[in-house]
Amino acid sequence: MRSYICTTCGTQYPVEEQPPGACLICEDPRQYVNPMGQSWTTSALLARTHANAFRLLEPDLFSITTTPGFAIGQRALLIRTPGGNVLWDCLSLLDPATEALVRALGGLAAIAVSHPHYYAAMVDWSVAFGCPIHLHADDRRWVMRPDQAIRFWQGETLPLASGLTLIRCGGHFAGGSVLHWADGAHGLGALLSGDILQVLPDRRHVSFMRSFPNLWPISAPAVERILAALEGFPFASIYGAFAEREITVDGKAALAASAERYLAAIRGDGSAERV
Ligand SMILES: [Zn+2]
Repeated sequence: MRSYICTTCGTQYPVEEQPPGACLICEDPRQYVNPMGQSWTTSALLARTHANAFRLLEPDLFSITTTPGFAIGQRALLIRTPGGNVLWDCLSLLDPATEALVRALGGLAAIAVSHPHYYAAMVDWSVAFGCPIHLHADDRRWVMRPDQAIRFWQGETLPLASGLTLIRCGGHFAGGSVLHWADGAHGLGALLSGDILQVLPDRRHVSFMRSFPNLWPISAPAVERILAALEGFPFASIYGAFAEREITVDGKAALAASAERYLAAIRGDGSAERV
């Protein structure tokens, strides 16, 4: 009996004797099925060939990434607060070294995940640290490994530990959420955005997509809803889903400029300047 993990998206499934017939996350048109055919691994196999690397991004904020890269390749972020540590987004690999290091940092008080592509092995992490998992209820149907630790939140915001607030933005997924950290960026505020706001390689802009691998944009009203959802939250830094993808100065202005150019493009009139 094993809990199988999809090698394309990194999603873990319930403990079974045989792997599932298909990965429903990959069959959703926002993802894609491995062109070589659906394939699976397990936690034990993954731990033989991969490890997790830690990096301190700013005081009390660690990134955790699996190396060599696995599946989608996102990072998880661990925030230390006086009210306990929170893991933002998740990884498919939780090996003994990671467990020991996170325990040495004080364990986890909660896990929160931006959207289903990063649910990964969240149940393994939750079991190891005895903490709840906060997911937006609008994405409930995409939970492939249900568990009693999962708490579905509803509405637009959910306060977590000290200074941390989950904010539903929608866009990529109906329940797509970001995490605001009031004490981040030395008190100026930080936004942990997953790929609900995708930080771009220039580290000055973000973009918005229904599907990133399939380059499927979201509508103008959906971008405007994201701006409205974030209006009351100040932030200087935006930490995206991937290594090095972070904006560290004037994050709020970067979001505004990014939305402006996105909206100009998607409402374009076909002229050379507006495309
Ligand atoms: Zn998959």
